[in-house]
Amino acid sequence: MTLQVRVGIGYDSHRFAEGHGVLLGGVLIPAAVRCTGHSDADAICHALTDALLGGSGLGDIGEMFPDTHAENAGRDSIEMLRLAVARVRAAGWMPAQADITVIAETPRLGPHRPAIRERLAAALGIEPSEVMVKGKTNEGMGWIGRGEGLACIAVATLTPSPRS
Ligand code: MG
Repeated sequence: MTLQVRVGIGYDSHRFAEGHGVLLGGVLIPAAVRCTGHSDADAICHALTDALLGGSGLGDIGEMFPDTHAENAGRDSIEMLRLAVARVRAAGWMPAQADITVIAETPRLGPHRPAIRERLAAALGIEPSEVMVKGKTNEGMGWIGRGEGLACIAVATLTPSPRS
């Protein structure tokens, strides 16, 4: 039997360095830190891309965009997300809904939530009401609590897409 709904999960983390803002879901949130990484270090986009690729059985972000390739250095993660969505659709699936949790002591996501939801929804080809983003602290515990970086968990639901 072929399932008519698939669910994928993705996780990502990035280390903080001194900076002027954290890029999350394609939105630069003002902060005294930035995330470091090979691409633009957008943990929401990376976790969500992995959720989409995982749910559709297409591998993971590391396979699709190897960090050994120069073209992926500093790469726009919204663009990577869009390319992953196109690949998912070509494989007969499409995003229906996504739910995302960012675990970080700083910055606060709340005021930027509507912008992030809009940006991600546009990349996924769904409505902002179908994308949720939630911020949590780690209650001061561990590496996240010490402010060394942030983590992100994303879940995406996929439904069959008409093959073109
Ligand atoms: Mg990443």
